[in-house]
Amino acid sequence: MRLFNCQVCGQMLHFENTLCVKCGAMLGYLPQRNVLSALEPAEEAGGDGPALWRPKAMPRRLARFCENARHEACNWMVPAESEERFCLSCRHNRTIPDISDPVNKAQWQKIEIAKHRAIYSFIRLWLPLRNQTDDPERGLAFDILADMPEAGQRVMTGHDNGLITVALIEADDTERVKRQTAMGEPYRTLLGHFRHESGHYYWDRLVRDGGRLEECRAIFGDDTQDYGAALQRHYSEGPPPGWRENFVSAYAAAHPWEDFAESWAHYLHIVDTLEMARAFGIGIAPVADRTGELAAEVDFNPYRSTDIQAVMDAWVPLTVTLNSLNRCMGEGDLYPFVLSPAVVAKLGFIQSLVHGEVPPDEEAL
Ligand SMILES: [Zn+2]
Ligand SMILES: [Zn+2]
Ligand SMILES: [Zn+2]
Repeated sequence: MRLFNCQVCGQMLHFENTLCVKCGAMLGYLPQRNVLSALEPAEEAGGDGPALWRPKAMPRRLARFCENARHEACNWMVPAESEERFCLSCRHNRTIPDISDPVNKAQWQKIEIAKHRAIYSFIRLWLPLRNQTDDPERGLAFDILADMPEAGQRVMTGHDNGLITVALIEADDTERVKRQTAMGEPYRTLLGHFRHESGHYYWDRLVRDGGRLEECRAIFGDDTQDYGAALQRHYSEGPPPGWRENFVSAYAAAHPWEDFAESWAHYLHIVDTLEMARAFGIGIAPVADRTGELAAEVDFNPYRSTDIQAVMDAWVPLTVTLNSLNRCMGEGDLYPFVLSPAVVAKLGFIQSLVHGEVPPDEEAL
């Protein structure tokens, strides 16, 4: 994720901002341009249509807010000439919970923040991104669902053929931490869920449909092994001894599909966090590090890097730093993972996958 500036007053802005705290300008995110823009009111649309805005970052174009903006769940814009009611992120929602219930609404808003950040990364990587209305067979859709205890129905977060289901209850911090402990996962966040489940979706698109299946199997193992039985074994016996040598997490050891999804999620965690480190100009040079092994500077665009070792050379010192800072605050490690050479090779494969198709005219962002 990057930082932005107000085009009116220069104030530094964050991705989710809707108003400039310094000059009071309205703000909207233009996903096609990857820019958060100050907005000026333009002429009203006819009748009771949505208000049109002139983004300072693209003054010759008009835009309106995504329909979810009125629920304070989105700050992305739709071009005025588009027939879409929803933005590039929200048009993938197939089902959202009943937001007339204020608890549901607050939880859904938290899920939307995570979802928008996940989709930001997909756009930055130029990943195929179509919804199921435009592409019923290969599109991506989200069901964000509340449990229905009276019907005995408990929603499971997961992916099935382009449909990602997210359990609304995961936005309840107490419940999520309970599950984190019960499942033995040191890291469990809403954004992590979107990144993990999207790994299953993009495995279908980029590995299976992209002609990379054999190559992927050589690195992640044979995915034809019985998936249900593999998960059952994982939950009854736990990961094999020494799993850290080969897998980024215990869950990744359950089945090659989960290994891919976990590795995919980590790749997104890494490049997105490095992008923010770069935005803040973070350089690392510990005084106590006599060998210079932990010196790093993020002087490249991690979303465009095709060199996994360069990414690791920046990421490892950054995580050592962040973990140490967290410990000073009495918190657990921010990134409680060890990236073994086998795991780095998996991340390198994912990097090669996401850099398969980059339009030549992409401006250097
Ligand atoms: Zn401003
Ligand atoms: Zn939206
Ligand atoms: Zn999974």
